[in-house]
Amino acid sequence: MSIGACGTPAGKSNGVGVKPERQYEADLLPLVAAYEADAAAAQIPVAPEFRRQLVQVIWQDDLGQQGDETVLGRCERFNENHADPEMRFRTVKIRKPDAEGYVGRIKLDALTLKTVVYHELGHCLHDFRGHLPEATHQIMSAALPKERFQSFHELLHQHFTLLRSRS
Ligand SMILES: [Zn+2]
Repeated sequence: MSIGACGTPAGKSNGVGVKPERQYEADLLPLVAAYEADAAAAQIPVAPEFRRQLVQVIWQDDLGQQGDETVLGRCERFNENHADPEMRFRTVKIRKPDAEGYVGRIKLDALTLKTVVYHELGHCLHDFRGHLPEATHQIMSAALPKERFQSFHELLHQHFTLLRSRS
């Protein structure tokens, strides 16, 4: 299960001339708030700078493929080194499921969606670059086996412990 192909590699920032309007989908915004609250509770609060930079959290019909897997989410960083901090911004896009709630073979249930959004926010709000090896099965791994979605509390504990160790 791929939740990756996301997170612009260090030094490879997309350059664009126009900053998009702020746009948060109503059904994704609560997950952003939950991530911020969980991060604060784990004593690795989101830096206001990155929160300001996150201008879009939206559904998207197609995010492409990574190998055989459908990409479920993407964090993109734009104008990272722009002289004007107001021109630096980030977006999170989440693959929109079909009418039955599926993206390909994957049922995007509430827990799966939360895991995907948290993964992208790890990139966009905690500035985590790249991915952990797949075998680690953590939120910042590029792929997670389905059963790992069922132990979200443990995933979350590992996630914030990892981020704290890097800050
Ligand atoms: Zn990723």
